[in-house]
Amino acid sequence: MTEISLKNKIAVVTGASGGIGKAVAISLASAGAAVAVHYGHNIKAAEEVVNQIKNNNGKAMAFSADVSDPAAIEKMFNDIDSSLGSVDILVNSAGIDGVRALLGEDKIEDWKNVMSINLYGPYFCSRMAIKRMLKKHSGVIINITSDHVYIPWEGYSAYCSAKAGLDMLTKTLAQETADKGIRVISIAPGAIKTAINKSVWENPDTLKDLDQKIATGIPGEAEDVANAVLFAASDMAKYMTGNTLVVDGGMLLYPDFRHGG
Ligand code: BGC
Repeated sequence: MTEISLKNKIAVVTGASGGIGKAVAISLASAGAAVAVHYGHNIKAAEEVVNQIKNNNGKAMAFSADVSDPAAIEKMFNDIDSSLGSVDILVNSAGIDGVRALLGEDKIEDWKNVMSINLYGPYFCSRMAIKRMLKKHSGVIINITSDHVYIPWEGYSAYCSAKAGLDMLTKTLAQETADKGIRVISIAPGAIKTAINKSVWENPDTLKDLDQKIATGIPGEAEDVANAVLFAASDMAKYMTGNTLVVDGGMLLYPDFRHGG
């Protein structure tokens, strides 16, 4: 049996107190990585993730920082250096959908906030990670993007723009670092059942509408994305960089086109 091992690796997962980030942190730790569980505000949830990892004989510590503040991110990576070690795997998972509003009816502050968390956050974290990875000529950066890199989404122009930007950051950074032992990969989830879209999958009417947008007919689980991250972070994916793994149950197959057109 082939086993994925991340023994002796240090992983930093942003937004790991819940949702996809939480599943990623647990999955990387179960493969042997020591995990820095980053959170924004919810210390209780982050500590629960750390405890869950420790109860499973894994290694983890919680770290808080505002991802949109470069100084806070620099401090967090310094703290991780001195407590867990220098990062080998960075997973940029912290993100928000933002407030749904048409352009012009939206608030500039809301738009900026989505950009700050979803695009500037991964940029600040990647800068800190790259410095460390260049020294050891090794490392993997995984950006959690979205099907909305490809599919426009009314009322979510900031979200779509930030995710499309993040996907291009993946490619540019991959090009800059491919000959330096570093890989950069995007993972694009579709509709995954987490707190971010709870209001949609909790309501039978909106869930039915969502199901129709997915070729397999149902939303995914955070673990489905975590499995792809685990693979991408491991040496099994050593010849992959600058590309995207889509984990969306076929949302990009536009299942609405089974009929009509
Ligand atoms: C969003 C979810 C949404 C999904 C499908 C994701 O990127 O974060 O809220 O359900 O795309 O539209």
